[in-house]
Amino acid sequence: MNHILKASNYIDTLCVGCGPAGLALACIFDEEPTARGGKAFLALEKTEACTWHPNLLLANTDINHHVYRDLVTPRNPQSPYSFAMYLKEKNRLFKFGLLGRPASRFEWSDYMGWVAQKLGNKVQYNSAVTEIVPMLENGQLVGLCVKGDDFSYTTKKLILSNGSSPQIPEVYREYLGSHVFHACEYLERLNAFKGNIPKRWLVLGSGQSAGEVIADLIGKYGDVHIISLHRSIGFKIAQLGQFPNLVFLPESIEYFKGLDDQGRDRFFNHVKSTNYSGIDTDESQHLYSVIYEDEVIGRERLKMVVNTELLSLMPSGQGYHVTLRDSFTGAQSDYDVDAIALGTGYQQPIVPALLIQLDDFLVKDAEGGLVVGSDYKVKLHGCDDVHVYVNGLSERTHGISDAQSFSAVAFRAGAIYKSIQACSNAPIDYAI
Ligand SMILES: Cc1cc2nc3c(=O)[nH]c(=O)nc-3n(C[C@H](O)[C@H](O)[C@H](O)COP(=O)(O)OP(=O)(O)OC[C@H]3O[C@@H](n4cnc5c(N)ncnc54)[C@H](O)[C@@H]3O)c2cc1C
Repeated sequence: MNHILKASNYIDTLCVGCGPAGLALACIFDEEPTARGGKAFLALEKTEACTWHPNLLLANTDINHHVYRDLVTPRNPQSPYSFAMYLKEKNRLFKFGLLGRPASRFEWSDYMGWVAQKLGNKVQYNSAVTEIVPMLENGQLVGLCVKGDDFSYTTKKLILSNGSSPQIPEVYREYLGSHVFHACEYLERLNAFKGNIPKRWLVLGSGQSAGEVIADLIGKYGDVHIISLHRSIGFKIAQLGQFPNLVFLPESIEYFKGLDDQGRDRFFNHVKSTNYSGIDTDESQHLYSVIYEDEVIGRERLKMVVNTELLSLMPSGQGYHVTLRDSFTGAQSDYDVDAIALGTGYQQPIVPALLIQLDDFLVKDAEGGLVVGSDYKVKLHGCDDVHVYVNGLSERTHGISDAQSFSAVAFRAGAIYKSIQACSNAPIDYAI
């Protein structure tokens, strides 16, 4: 076992991904004096810098959480990595106070970049993790080898912070590429058109990303025509009321965890409109106004097609022919489009793809999913020496506030850090 600990590529705690969840964790490892050893913590991030959803960093977008719910404040209001400290250092503390609206997504991403820069060598960029290989001795799991194309590290404490995956409806998969793509690729795909922007678009979905893609296309290019396709009645306002949003309080995680499988499903359905398939009031008004004002001057750039599903999708000329069906009347309609943007949201597989080689060691619940503790530790068969955590990938077991939101990022990082400290082999100064 010791040869793993002594290996020159051994990292005590290794984190995959450095978005908000990974960054919040890196902050604690920097704040806590006992954890500052040279090899105590490393986050591997596949992109070249720490930005927040860079392909949807669009004009006129802002954050939908309170700025106190930053990377650290709920856990440690005295942390040097708070949004307030960022504003102070940028000399915008007072000016921000006068803004009278949430921080823009640009500013929030800049805040994250500011934190990442301060954490220096705790993050290694351009490092996509491609596989996690179990290390065995006498059939026992004694370590993990975390590999990418040009690196390999060993560890006994692994934290998956690699975020949710884009949800792609099956029918679009074979066409994915330059002209059919998920919204999470929006800006890079748009830039690749090099000014030769497709004119006829189909944009799927009723959530924030779909709304933002439409608003951006119309704002930038006067001559686009967009079919906005909805299975539902169209863009709804996200549930913004104070009472339903109490679900984002940390105590809600324990409540949710205590429910049985059926109860979790029911509860999730009760509260999902606080975070999913909804847009802001101003966004709704903007999109409605576009349609209305176009009608006044006798043109149409945006057509809402609601209560409707895709029947078929066929390549046609340089673009695609789509046949749609109204799910109430059964009436069909046909359109030719040049490009398709999928604002179809994100998903969390019940077992993260990166854990596939650990399958024999994973304890599974009745649905075949991971068993995850309150400390976000994944339950492994007969193994006390290797620890795997999920950081932002446990919506199924911990509820809506736990993933795809900033609400629990700081608290969750605190819980994981505390659990790691309690592991029998933590922490040692591994600087070799
Ligand atoms: C457009 C948009 C706006 C949003 N706005 C808000 C908001 O205002 N408020 C809110 O609370 N929530 C918002 N969300 C929800 C969002 O999911 C969270 O804010 C937050 O980004 C979740 O952080 P995360 O670190 O868990 O995941 P992510 O932000 O997805 O970060 C995962 C990181 O892991 C990296 N990675 C992935 N795979 C690998 C790999 N194999 N190897 C190495 N690195 C890897 C990625 O590059 C990324 O940096 C928004 C989501 C979107 C898409």
